[in-house]
Amino acid sequence: MATMESLIGLVNRIQRACTALGDYGGGDNAFSSLWDALPSVAVVGGQSSGKSSVLESIVGRDFLPRGSGIVTRRPLVLQLQKTEDGQQEYAEFGHLPRRRFTDFSVVRKEIQDETDRITGKTKQISPVPIHLSIYSPYVVNLTLIDLPGLTKVAIEGQPESIVQDIENMVRTYVEKPNCVILAISPANQDIATSDAIKLAREVDPQGERTFGVLTKLDLMDKGTNALDVLEGRSYRLQQPWVGIVNRSQADINKNVDMIAARRREREYFATSPDYGHLASKMGSEYLAKLLSRHLESVIKARIPSITSLINKSIEELESEMDHLGRPIAVDAGAQLYTILELCRAFDKIFKEHLEGGRPGGDQIYGVFDNKLPAALKKLPFDRHLSIQNVRKVVSEADGYQPHLIAPEQGYRRLIEGALNYFRGPAEASVDAVHFVLKELVRRSVGECQELKRFPSLQSTIAAAANEALERFREESKKTVVRLVDMESSYLTVDFFRRLPQEVEKAGNVAGANAAAATNIDRYAEGHFRRIGSNVSSYISMVSETLKNTIPKAVVYCQVKEAKQCLLNHFYTQIGKREGKQLADLLDEDPALMERRVECAKRLELYKKARDEIDSVAWAR
Ligand code: GDP
Ligand code: MG
Repeated sequence: MATMESLIGLVNRIQRACTALGDYGGGDNAFSSLWDALPSVAVVGGQSSGKSSVLESIVGRDFLPRGSGIVTRRPLVLQLQKTEDGQQEYAEFGHLPRRRFTDFSVVRKEIQDETDRITGKTKQISPVPIHLSIYSPYVVNLTLIDLPGLTKVAIEGQPESIVQDIENMVRTYVEKPNCVILAISPANQDIATSDAIKLAREVDPQGERTFGVLTKLDLMDKGTNALDVLEGRSYRLQQPWVGIVNRSQADINKNVDMIAARRREREYFATSPDYGHLASKMGSEYLAKLLSRHLESVIKARIPSITSLINKSIEELESEMDHLGRPIAVDAGAQLYTILELCRAFDKIFKEHLEGGRPGGDQIYGVFDNKLPAALKKLPFDRHLSIQNVRKVVSEADGYQPHLIAPEQGYRRLIEGALNYFRGPAEASVDAVHFVLKELVRRSVGECQELKRFPSLQSTIAAAANEALERFREESKKTVVRLVDMESSYLTVDFFRRLPQEVEKAGNVAGANAAAATNIDRYAEGHFRRIGSNVSSYISMVSETLKNTIPKAVVYCQVKEAKQCLLNHFYTQIGKREGKQLADLLDEDPALMERRVECAKRLELYKKARDEIDSVAWAR
């Protein structure tokens, strides 16, 4: 059987857990507030109307600062938790977790000090609540919120806005539909002037969640009584009015204890000629029971919506946790493992880009199929093998003795000169592929979801990959330049042997002397043109060869290496790192880390709450 205590106690525990996470409603919390979904009781009334006194007598302990003037200057969220009989009573503050207060006068002192800590020793107020839990066998399970009293004018030392500030602060609590309002009005003032009733009527016009509490019955003018109010004739509420007699300031000064005070209150009603007939429905003990019973029925009615809110929150939190990723391990071995896993995840994406599955690898083929042939075609062989240049190079090679048959030296120089031009396109192919690979690294790093959490590791991997690509590029350049150099180091003999021999057409030697000079000119021109065209076809042959071998070298030195050992060097380095350095690599975005911790705590709270609600709901 779920008792009243267990239900309210359950809500109390959830509320306390919410509080520990800094969630006490208020709206500026990023999480949908579970707190707001749970019922609570707020004490509202004019200054010195007796709010703190009522709270104390409900609790049955002296622990609140009381007196005239503005004493309560921050909201006090008071959670009462009933414990087993015989257990020692103690109190705990939200701002001092794990410190148990057993002396309630020290509790009062701490409330004062904690108030001053935020507001200073002034008459200022602050909306930041103080959280206090009381564990005692003598309390009922309740969450009560003591609020600063409503006032009408700012007094010396207070800003003009204070009247409105207090009202606004109180309103944020009482306007929540789950807030039960304990509207405190002193009996020695006309109920028509009650600040409590005025505000309560505004936020709860039907009076469904407002409990009217009339204090200071003992201070009424002789010959008057409050029966019109207590019997609901002055101001109708759905809930019954409760009259209270708290300790006077003189009692407090004389240290009249709570037990004596309660006894005196009981006696007051039992013996009162005016209220005797209402005695069983008056007093703070009755008010506590009434509130408890009301809360229980509210909670029962709310359980389905609370459960669905909790389930919805759990769902949201779990999907957020998935998104944020698992927390990282703390030992070096596990961290190394995580880093290697992340490297592999990146490497896998990079490979997909190269091999297909993801776009980009085709650009490398584009270099071989378009850029390289186009660059080869553009080489300035026409100029190099123009008759003028051929004549110049050959003559220079001949020196003072012109060649007799074939200009061996001239051919060599022309060919070597032409071959030099191939270095440009060869190196340009290497660079072009390098930039494609670099771009693929950049894209892969960006596309690797797992890495997003770890900005340091992300940039370290990118740097390591680029460094490796740089090394591959150097190697590749050396290799393609070597291919070109190899072409000049040994010429293909067969090519020249197969060339048709120049037929000496000396012609008619007896020809006119006048013609001889032009004949020789014509001969020389044809001779050099033939040399140029021979060299040109040799160069074309070499060009065809290089068009095929440069891509092979580039793939061998850069692409294949990138595919197989992009991070190899990094792996050997990382293996040597110390725990601290590994942890540094895995340092997450701090905001993200904080968020995960927050989410995890909340998830735990909500799951626990769900289990508890389930067990209570089953027990019913
Ligand atoms: P709050 O400002 O609304 O929290 O009011 P307090 O609880 O601090 O009470 C203000 C003053 O009124 C204190 O001196 C109390 O002793 C006194 N007081 C409160 N309730 C009663 C009551 O029912 N009878 C008498 N005689 N004095 C009361
Ligand atoms: Mg007070």
